[in-house]
Amino acid sequence: MRGKTTDEIKPFIVMDVLERALALERTGRSIVHLEIGEPDFATPPAIVDACIEALKNGETHYTDSRGIPGLRAAIASYYERRYGVKITEDRVLVTMGVSPALLLVLSILIEENGDEILLGNPYYPCYPNFIRYMHGTPRFIFSEAADGFQLKPAAVEGAITPKTHAIMINSPSNPTGTLMPRDDLEAICNLGVAVISDEIYHGLVYNETEHTALEFTENAFVLNGFSKLFAMTGWRLGYIIAPKRAVRRLHILLQNIFISPNAFVQHAGIAALTKKHPEIEEMRQKYDARRRYLLRELPKLGLRYALEPRGAFYFFVDTSHIDNDSLRLAFDILEKADVALTPGIDFGDRGEGHLRISYANSLVNITEGVRRLGVYLTERGAL
Ligand code: PMP
Repeated sequence: MRGKTTDEIKPFIVMDVLERALALERTGRSIVHLEIGEPDFATPPAIVDACIEALKNGETHYTDSRGIPGLRAAIASYYERRYGVKITEDRVLVTMGVSPALLLVLSILIEENGDEILLGNPYYPCYPNFIRYMHGTPRFIFSEAADGFQLKPAAVEGAITPKTHAIMINSPSNPTGTLMPRDDLEAICNLGVAVISDEIYHGLVYNETEHTALEFTENAFVLNGFSKLFAMTGWRLGYIIAPKRAVRRLHILLQNIFISPNAFVQHAGIAALTKKHPEIEEMRQKYDARRRYLLRELPKLGLRYALEPRGAFYFFVDTSHIDNDSLRLAFDILEKADVALTPGIDFGDRGEGHLRISYANSLVNITEGVRRLGVYLTERGAL
């Protein structure tokens, strides 16, 4: 008999911060939200129009469990266009976001209780929770601030055991905003173990080039979606590009668990990948302007990062000189300075002594947040 794994699932602390911030707002306080990792932009209009059109055309039924052929083909050619990798569309499976994609992939890679998945620490909080939910064992590798908290090939190789079933990669990363160097990615992809590459922040990259794991190995499960780059979090659309050997098993799970992704949303997905959207580049440039503002301002507040973040929309700053208890610090800043930030401990014990700052908010609001942080730190004598 399997135990009750839901007891092992930890809270998503960022949601606790958000919920407290919302409660403060209900009392009339104005909070600057730098906690949530969600684009503050609207979905580009051509994508919205395609969805409305699909609804009007009666695209309101179940579809093929793996997704409609037009979207699977669009995803395959998107990867070919962006990275030069040839993917046949039968390797593409459409899901309702990266979250269910992750759950499905882990459920086929974790075959027996205690099978190990290697991942960096700090990590995206849902990764170990999903692994535990599948009765696997998350095997953490402490990563170094100087490496932008990205995994190094030698450390990964040294952690591989006969029980290792996959290596989790997330570049650009949540919570650090850093990218794994190309050569490290290549080396990790060639360690003879399956790689799960969460590429959800691809496209949100500044002065850097991102690489897909598919450039280096056939034994990769690539997870990607529309939430971040296309500002489509609420649409719930993502996909898996899987090795051929795994496709049928994933397909069977999709049939049973989800039946199919939303029909009309898939048509929006085709529009996202095949039409031109000037808004996407405008959003990227706005994120970059906010990033450059924070690159200048955070050091003035004594908030340090070892490596410049060049992707996603996060800074992961060292706050151990103010208070090593990141949960206490984040809630103190929220209560006293009306700025919501995510405690580093949400991302694992290696994240303790840090705060994550999300710049998925307007430059005006970010500037106000920085001002308030300056006042708070001065009053605390930390500046
Ligand atoms: N992976 C990472 C690293 C993320 O940051 C997120 C969203 N916070 C997800 C996956 C889940 O994204 P989706 O909306 O596609 O489920």
